[in-house]
Amino acid sequence: MNKTGILYVVSTPIGNLEDITLRALRVLREVDLVAAEDTRQTKKLLSYYDIKVPVISYREENRQRQGQRILEDLEDGRNIALVSDAGTPCISDPGVHLVNLAWQANIKVCPIPGPTAIMTALSVAGVRTHPFVFLGFLPQRKGRRKRLFETLKGLSYTIAFYESPHRFLDTLKILAEIFKDALVIVARELTKRHEEIKRGSPEQLLDYYKKKGIKGEFTIIIARKV
Ligand code: SAM
Repeated sequence: MNKTGILYVVSTPIGNLEDITLRALRVLREVDLVAAEDTRQTKKLLSYYDIKVPVISYREENRQRQGQRILEDLEDGRNIALVSDAGTPCISDPGVHLVNLAWQANIKVCPIPGPTAIMTALSVAGVRTHPFVFLGFLPQRKGRRKRLFETLKGLSYTIAFYESPHRFLDTLKILAEIFKDALVIVARELTKRHEEIKRGSPEQLLDYYKKKGIKGEFTIIIARKV
């Protein structure tokens, strides 16, 4: 019987291309195939490190079909690296279905750890990091976001989440109502040229970003007690 391959779950940079581990580079070099959320983005990273390996697309829209194909390759003994657009696969990114499929088929799953925006933001926030609750992306509707924060209000956990630039100001307004006295940390464009980490009350941050304008990728942390 053929030996089955390994599914490597590989973290890639969240901005700065130097933020990748030596092991991740070696694995990306040695696998038979890379399954990428965004093939263009991944090809840029691979070409920066002069890595030549076939790349196929694996994303939410094609996961049924591609998942089967990848599984067959793994069963045939090929080693495959799963990467997302940026950061760690399966953290608010596609991949979980493939990883689950691999487990169900008795394929070995091997993590290659590295950057993720949530941990990067927590590491510089200067707030208690345990316990913390990670919400991923918030619900799109304002009413639902508000209800979610109302539910969490009684909890003394640090709260962390990802937010899109389009909803950022509205979310800060909700925080100004519900978490009036909390310390909020906005981590914007982490590891990139315009990296900015701001701490303040929701009201102070609202004033600042209304003047400054909203651009880039945001991770937000709400600290209840420092
Ligand atoms: N898998 C990724 C990870 O491990 O962090 C998260 C992917 S999720 C689709 C993308 C969201 O993560 C962005 O909208 C933003 O909220 C957050 N994010 C990603 N890169 C970031 C960065 N460089 N600075 C701040 N937040 C970032």
